[in-house]
Amino acid sequence: MIAGSSSSATGVSAAQAIVGRATRVTIDLGALRHNLSVARVIAPRAKIMAAIKANGYGHGLERVATALQGADALGVACINEALALRMAGIEAPITLLEGFFQANEIPLLQAYHFEAVVHEASQVEALERSHYGPVRVWIKVDTGMHRLGFAPGATRGIWRRLNALEGVEVVGFMTHLACADDQTDPATPRQLALFEETVQGLPGERAIANSAGVLGWPESHVEWIRPGVMLYGISPFLEGRGPEAKLRPVMTLHSELIAVNHIPKGGAVGYGGTWRAPETLPVGVVAVGYGDGYPRHAPAGTPVLLNGKPVPLIGRVSMDMITVDLRGQPHARAGDPVVLWGEGLPAELIAERAGTIAYELLCGVTQRVRCEEVTSD
Ligand SMILES: *Cc1c(COP(=O)(O)O)cnc(C)c1O
Repeated sequence: MIAGSSSSATGVSAAQAIVGRATRVTIDLGALRHNLSVARVIAPRAKIMAAIKANGYGHGLERVATALQGADALGVACINEALALRMAGIEAPITLLEGFFQANEIPLLQAYHFEAVVHEASQVEALERSHYGPVRVWIKVDTGMHRLGFAPGATRGIWRRLNALEGVEVVGFMTHLACADDQTDPATPRQLALFEETVQGLPGERAIANSAGVLGWPESHVEWIRPGVMLYGISPFLEGRGPEAKLRPVMTLHSELIAVNHIPKGGAVGYGGTWRAPETLPVGVVAVGYGDGYPRHAPAGTPVLLNGKPVPLIGRVSMDMITVDLRGQPHARAGDPVVLWGEGLPAELIAERAGTIAYELLCGVTQRVRCEEVTSD
């Protein structure tokens, strides 16, 4: 009988107690706090709404909220995320970045002190019909991204309607930048000018900058900034890398070598036999795959850190395993440590190779991957 295992009959707690497969992520809370301080230093007069939606960009919602107590507010995508934070005892101001989806969320906004972004006429109508309040809202203006928000010409009218409601307090105005990741794109100055013109003379606070705005567009630093991905140590810029902006990676995905095989010249490796050995060579098998969130589209040649040095991925990524060319490390053995991204290997690089963005890699680490908190200083 395993000590303390009340559900040993199902084997559940025994399974959780056994370490087994080495595949895990470490989440560096020291790096998270450091990255928040980078945002503070860059925009010293702005209040920070830290974007922690999608389970804290895959790092753990509560964990990230607790580590980011230095932020002035937290931004989430929906009320379920906001309620989970309150249930965990998080008292910071929380903003629902897409507001409420159903009118029956309105009493919860009031009860739990959530601020809601209002971006659509149906939300205004729901507030007009509601008997709950006070509810604090931000008005979202579409300055060119053409996703969420009121047209600039409609914004004043929306403000008047909301401002007339007893149960509604308009905190201010926000907009979202579509192309700030490209520092040469003229769309950003156009969006900034249109926002300025739209909200001119209206009372309240303003919020514009995502991470790319924070790091690349000082004109977008107004009363509030809304950094997300930079807090996790990732550069928001095209071809950028976190360390260039003094950011430190928060998530590192680790595994280990579980087999070393010698493949004869011409031997095909992996599903579909897409990769063939150009000579007799050692091939390593690493315990990580798309079932853990490693991107299936990562092509041959994508770097994998083995014993701290890069070796190239070969063959297709499978659900639980990948294969690597060990010609550069012929003495590698089963049990040697592997890093897939994070410390020493930017997630941005792996994402580029796999035709995606680091945001998607971070959010996509799956449930079965163990998570360990670490704190560097
Ligand atoms: C997610 C989000 C952010 C943060 O974006 P990053 O690119 O991760 O910095 C900012 N504002 C809104 C409205 C968001 O949804």
